[in-house]
Amino acid sequence: MILVVLFFVLLTASALLSAYAPRITHDGAGTAAASLLAFALFFFLVVMLTWSYFACVLLEPGKVPQGWSPFETDEADRLESGSHRQDKGLTGTGRPRYCRKCQAWKPERAHHDSMLGRCVLRMDHYCVWVANSVGLLNYKAFLLFLFYTFLACLLGASMLLGDVARFFKGIDAASPDNAGRFALTMIAFVVDLAFSLSLGGLLAMHARMVWLNYTTIEMFEKQRAAQWPYDRGARRNFEEVFGTRFWRWWVPTYTAAEKARMLDATLNGHPSSTATEFAAL
Ligand SMILES: [Zn+2]
Repeated sequence: MILVVLFFVLLTASALLSAYAPRITHDGAGTAAASLLAFALFFFLVVMLTWSYFACVLLEPGKVPQGWSPFETDEADRLESGSHRQDKGLTGTGRPRYCRKCQAWKPERAHHDSMLGRCVLRMDHYCVWVANSVGLLNYKAFLLFLFYTFLACLLGASMLLGDVARFFKGIDAASPDNAGRFALTMIAFVVDLAFSLSLGGLLAMHARMVWLNYTTIEMFEKQRAAQWPYDRGARRNFEEVFGTRFWRWWVPTYTAAEKARMLDATLNGHPSSTATEFAAL
């Protein structure tokens, strides 16, 4: 995936350079400033998408701690009826979940990931593009990666649009010197456009899931509770993934305090109270 992204970045950057460099050096101050600004924005997006990508690849998606159990204290609790277990966050099913492969209990929304060979907290899906599972602690990084890549592609495509139009009108294409530049611009434009369309669709799908507090796995599960227990309203659902602080929404990592609160909320049975706890930080 990083090679695909690198290819896109280099392709677009060289197309943009060949299109905009003459404008920056030869045109008036206004055009030069606008071109430089667009360039700066494009490279800012590239930095952000690269950061988000590596965060998604390298961050631990969420481990179930060894010896974790949905029961309050000891073995005796296992014999109790479901009412007590509600306290430990078994709201979705009302019964404890056990992973036979890990030979261990797993919290609600955790799923066994056969690629990583263990259970992942609030697992969204295993992503081949990032060679990692996307779960509780790297879902924000995954979404930001989609978001920044989408914006970079969209910006790249719109910056090249004028040149593509000029080539089609035959203004620049006549000269044989421009053949290479024409090919580069066209390929970059088509790649950017295709990327932004498909990423836009994927983003829209995930935006809906964040809004309703579903993971991809849960979205495709056949049996679902009539009243979705994790839905606490759009704003709180959003804050569960992105946090409550505006400036933290845009960076792909969590602070140690945020992480501790999220793990605590997921493991200690109040899955939807994460947002409230963020607010208390
Ligand atoms: Zn497992």
